Amino acid sequence: MSLPPLVEPADELTVDEVRRYSRHLIIPDVGMDGQKRLKNAKVLFVGAGGLGSPGLMYLAAAGVGTLGIVEFDEVDESNLQRQVVHSQSDIGRPKAESARDTIKGINPYVNVVLHQERLEAENVKDVFSQYDLIIDGTDNFATRYLVNDACVLLGKPYVWGSIYRFDGQASVFWSEHGPCYRCLYPEPPPPGMVPSCAEGGVLGVLCASIGSIQANEAIKLLAGIGEPLVGRLMIYDALEMQYRQVKVRKDPDCAICGENPTVTELIDYEAFCGVVSEEAQAAAADSTITPKQLKEWIDDGENIELIDVREPNEFEIVSIPGARLIPKNEFLMGSALENLPHDKKIVLNCKTGVRSAEVLAVLKSAGFADAVHVGGGVIGWVNQIEPEKPVY
Ligand code: ZN
Repeated sequence: MSLPPLVEPADELTVDEVRRYSRHLIIPDVGMDGQKRLKNAKVLFVGAGGLGSPGLMYLAAAGVGTLGIVEFDEVDESNLQRQVVHSQSDIGRPKAESARDTIKGINPYVNVVLHQERLEAENVKDVFSQYDLIIDGTDNFATRYLVNDACVLLGKPYVWGSIYRFDGQASVFWSEHGPCYRCLYPEPPPPGMVPSCAEGGVLGVLCASIGSIQANEAIKLLAGIGEPLVGRLMIYDALEMQYRQVKVRKDPDCAICGENPTVTELIDYEAFCGVVSEEAQAAAADSTITPKQLKEWIDDGENIELIDVREPNEFEIVSIPGARLIPKNEFLMGSALENLPHDKKIVLNCKTGVRSAEVLAVLKSAGFADAVHVGGGVIGWVNQIEPEKPVY
């Protein structure tokens, strides 16, 4: 399936632009017409992180006239392993401004528009309506459903990508011509089931593979060339070095783009995706302690058993003194429960307090009524108690 170009061509290219884009201009499929369309194009990247870095840099180099960036975060040292649009000297700066400076360095003809705000149901339509096409480089389900629904309601193409460890996925969702994200994933996964890259890690170079697929698809749609990734899901395995394709069909029962849609306006996506499950929220409600409280208990010699529920790799990077490692899965499978002491107060911690809350719910229902978990996890501990230790 080929689609007509998304963007009308600009009136002309300047002499400087002709020189700059000459390697595009001599490709018959792009040519002067395609390059003029790129010049007139307005593309929004949600997130200037792992996927946004290669995506934004290549779209800038390719001559996309206007690049919008939605990003409110700041550059952290742990970003630099994969977010190549930012440099060492950008640590602590707003990511949006750092990305803009890099883009301007690559191609001064690009008009960069910054949206330094969190994307929400209240502002998403105002932002998206200024662009021809939306690319999502974020790492959370609430944003993906928000981006998808806004794109369906506005009739915009949505170029999606996702990365985790050595695995990547990409597709183009466009309800006028094919399926949307909800057709592929009608329901978000249960909270805590799918680890984020912050929890599970990601190979830095994987971002380049998936981010460049996203940039490539954007260019094809803008110029109306090739076979867009509409109705197809690309699955990339960097360890096996395999690309697979899966057909994705439009779901007639889709909640937003189906025949009888039940979602006709934007909803509360945080609630829809549930950052923490209801069980975990209930368990943690009156059983959360601060890192400072834990420090006092340790100093006072309280009778506690501190259990870290993260993965061994994470434990190796940094841990709270005296913590014993029992990964979360051993609690979910039940095998960890029999070895827990009943004569000590169980204190759980993880990276930031999400996984430990899930395990807390398991412990409470297994009879460990006085168990607690550390809000903010080992990151909170390092920030407040042992700032000389590394965070990740
Ligand atoms: Zn759909």
